[in-house]
Amino acid sequence: MTSLATTSSLYDLDFDGLQTRLVADGILAHHTKAFWRALQRDALTDFSTKPFSPPLEKWIQKNVGSGKIYQIDPLHQVDEIHSTDGLTRKFLLRLQDGQVIETVLMGYDHRHTVCVSTQAGCAMGCVFCATGQMGFVRHLRPGEIVAQVLHAQRVLRQMDPRRRLRNLVLMGMGEPLHNYEAVIHALGIISDVRGIGIGPSKIAISTVGVVPSILRLAAENQPYRLAVSLHGSNEEERSALVPASKKWSLAELISACRKYGELTQNRIFFEWTLIDGQNDSHETALRLIKLLEGIDAHINLIPLNPTGGYHGAASERGHAFQRILREAGFPCTFRQRRGIDVAAGCGMLKAEKRPRA
Ligand code: SAH
Ligand code: SF4
Repeated sequence: MTSLATTSSLYDLDFDGLQTRLVADGILAHHTKAFWRALQRDALTDFSTKPFSPPLEKWIQKNVGSGKIYQIDPLHQVDEIHSTDGLTRKFLLRLQDGQVIETVLMGYDHRHTVCVSTQAGCAMGCVFCATGQMGFVRHLRPGEIVAQVLHAQRVLRQMDPRRRLRNLVLMGMGEPLHNYEAVIHALGIISDVRGIGIGPSKIAISTVGVVPSILRLAAENQPYRLAVSLHGSNEEERSALVPASKKWSLAELISACRKYGELTQNRIFFEWTLIDGQNDSHETALRLIKLLEGIDAHINLIPLNPTGGYHGAASERGHAFQRILREAGFPCTFRQRRGIDVAAGCGMLKAEKRPRA
């Protein structure tokens, strides 16, 4: 059996990393491009059918595959569930250590979006989120994030060879900014135009509000979109729903968002899951307007997807909430309800088929 300790995943490598390794083994640097293309753009899992330069071909035969130095992350699909809308598919994918994560492929208006997980479980414990309720298991490696995108890419190509993924959202299981290094490394690979090539402006990182990481995104001028899950307009309202706000207060979070906006000039998307009687009142909307004053903000309202014990706001209340924000000049839209029937909606991602320890 292959030992994890001696095998590296090719998906963990960015272009330069792959090139360094090839060159160290005597392969000419300019051959990297062909291999990278096969690996990332064509999402191949079997390289034997592809003609490469003879030294590269030999290198692949010697080094890549089960029991060899390198392998590609084998995500084993445990299940695939189709939503009745016909446009959403959820994949349950088993990682090498047996953890099961979820990836969702959504196809609307011929623009396909993939939603990936960044952790197995999540440490943040939001009360209305199924992933939060299962607790933290572990961070994903960059290669495990890349592998989810490539899995969706293969499925999409089978459906229609001309289609490619246009958008990526980090809204699956886990808190991306709690796994900063791996996420940023993975996004560098995924946005590389020589490979998968999803544009940075089509990639959204959604965070519960890990303040130091938001400031880091700004300081590093990372080109991705930022979505902040807010859900509450004062400390009390928010911390009842989002325990992480006891660590990073709403005041700190908003100040980090202001700083992010100033440094990057980017608009911030604020996500607001509407929960009946808890954060959908007129007063809450007015407080939210005050809170976000001066920030280039777009507010995304998410009708709560049912998870144990929590109910969504009635749609009239949601629409009234939206009206108030719009009248104050904030762009404010409702997130489409996607894949609810397959438990692939936001916050419903929880590996039901996770093997018990
Ligand atoms: N951890 C990150 C990203 C994953 S959650 C975050 O919290 O932003 C993605 C989005 O789904 C978040 O906006 C989250 O608040 C929302 N969400 C979680 N549970 C939900 C539920 N039951 N119904 C609707 N949205 C939910
Ligand atoms: Fe984690 Fe996001 Fe779920 Fe909160 S909403 S528990 S941060 S995945």
